[in-house]
Amino acid sequence: MTGWLERLHGWLAASGGSCPMCGRDKRGPASAPIPVRHAAPREALRELCEGCLRRIPWIVRSVCPVCGRPERCGDCLRRRRRHFEHCRGAVRYDDAMKEWLGLYKYRGLEKLEPFMAAMLASAVERLLESQPSRAAGGGAFDLVTSVPLAEGRLEDRGFNQAERMAVWIARWYGMAYRPMLRRVRNSGKQSLMGRRDRMENMKGNFAALHAAGEGAGRRPDAEAIFATRPLRILLIDDIYTTGSTMNECAFALRGQWPGCEVYGALWARS
Ligand SMILES: [Zn+2]
Ligand SMILES: [Zn+2]
Repeated sequence: MTGWLERLHGWLAASGGSCPMCGRDKRGPASAPIPVRHAAPREALRELCEGCLRRIPWIVRSVCPVCGRPERCGDCLRRRRRHFEHCRGAVRYDDAMKEWLGLYKYRGLEKLEPFMAAMLASAVERLLESQPSRAAGGGAFDLVTSVPLAEGRLEDRGFNQAERMAVWIARWYGMAYRPMLRRVRNSGKQSLMGRRDRMENMKGNFAALHAAGEGAGRRPDAEAIFATRPLRILLIDDIYTTGSTMNECAFALRGQWPGCEVYGALWARS
């Protein structure tokens, strides 16, 4: 639980009192509303300047019950088979958010990580509010996991932003983080299928890691979590566009852990 605060304060000391996002000097504490309840991510967001905080296009009211979009949504109406329960996004993906994600993801400004994760916390809290917590203690979700990067991207970039944010979320909300998915190289068989078959069949871009190996851990406590029924998984990604990535990932998870429930938290909804 500690550690994150020290890292945060370390970065802030290095930035010398300027806003970590825009680099401008901060004039006193920001007063913009922050739709996050947990003290740790709230404190992180308070480090941004007033101007940056006011620029965040929070999604505070969902219209689509499936993906949490703030307006009616054709993608969800058209989807024939949904493998996840529902998703929530923290912010709309506008030009300012594109710039922020670009700074973090492509320019490698890792110091932005806790602030991106703190924004994502807003979506996580809305998911938690919609969940009954388990009678026998513990949070509403048994495991937190993330959408894996395509092969090669990890080498290029050095980190998976979805995983990094998921680890902060798991730590803040007292849940266990596990890598549970991997990318599968496209076999090319897709091209032999008709359009409808392609849409009906999940593309198979993702596969589940086995519970007892491949990074998921062999410890007895880990095994106990996988035996939970229904296993509730919180799946984290940065951007939600049509939802097909979420759906494919949930399909792979449900193949490995039948009956599991997959809920998505997205940093931004495009
Ligand atoms: Zn700023
Ligand atoms: Zn939707």
